[in-house]
Amino acid sequence: MSTNKTALIIGASRGLGLGLVQRLLEDGWNVLATVRDPARADTLSALPGVQVETLEMNSGSQLDALQQRLQGQVFDLLFVNAGVMGPGDQNPERAQLADVGELFLTNAVSPIRVAQRLAPQLREDGVLAFMSSILGSVAIPDGSEMCLYKASKAALNSMINSFVTLQQPQQTVLAMHPGWVKTDMGGENAEIDVLTSTRGMLEQIKANAGKGGLQFINYKGESLIW
Ligand code: NAP
Repeated sequence: MSTNKTALIIGASRGLGLGLVQRLLEDGWNVLATVRDPARADTLSALPGVQVETLEMNSGSQLDALQQRLQGQVFDLLFVNAGVMGPGDQNPERAQLADVGELFLTNAVSPIRVAQRLAPQLREDGVLAFMSSILGSVAIPDGSEMCLYKASKAALNSMINSFVTLQQPQQTVLAMHPGWVKTDMGGENAEIDVLTSTRGMLEQIKANAGKGGLQFINYKGESLIW
């Protein structure tokens, strides 16, 4: 099966990014996927037909180099998935500048830098997706033990809202909550597996392509409160 569609997944060495690549390949897409260290991306590299690119998202020079290498490519989907949990101890009293800086740079600022460089290569009815989280909702008070991570995803949502004004009207922008998923980050007690989450997210991407506008939704397509 071939869809003639092309996706670029940012952060695909493991977890949800890797799962997204697998679902897209099963659905017949051409897939380009980035990892920080190709030497630690054996599962991804073994998938037939994936173009693996190197990207440390927090490096401006690596972002510039990726943009150069991908010049002329057109994407139906650009999915910025990469993210981190931040320090193990998220008590604001003990938060360190370097940890908080890295967390917010990775989760809120770098995804927008990726999008600013690569969204111009998105097809007119393409989808630009960011991996947010329900924890990014400022209206939901849960998650005090992960308050720094939660704030970084709220900041990502805010940055997405600021960035969206730069998009073409037919392009869809999604802030996606993948569910609570069994990955290195989600842990083994999480509610759903990577297959369920990524299958759902791909359905939502396809359902929203060409609709235009910005949505904050989960992997089932339910709207979430900002
Ligand atoms: P994961 O298994 O820890 O994977 C995180 C991915 O992000 C890895 O591929 C990692 O690459 C990459 N990454 C981290 N920092 C990066 C950077 N500076 N530059 C480039 N790549 C970087 O986590 P996951 O559960 O799959 O999470 C994926 C996304 O979903 C994250 O944005 C996370 O916040 C979000 N999310 C997850 C859940 C959940 O329940 N799992 C829920 C809500 C939202 P390396 O292998 O090189 O470290």
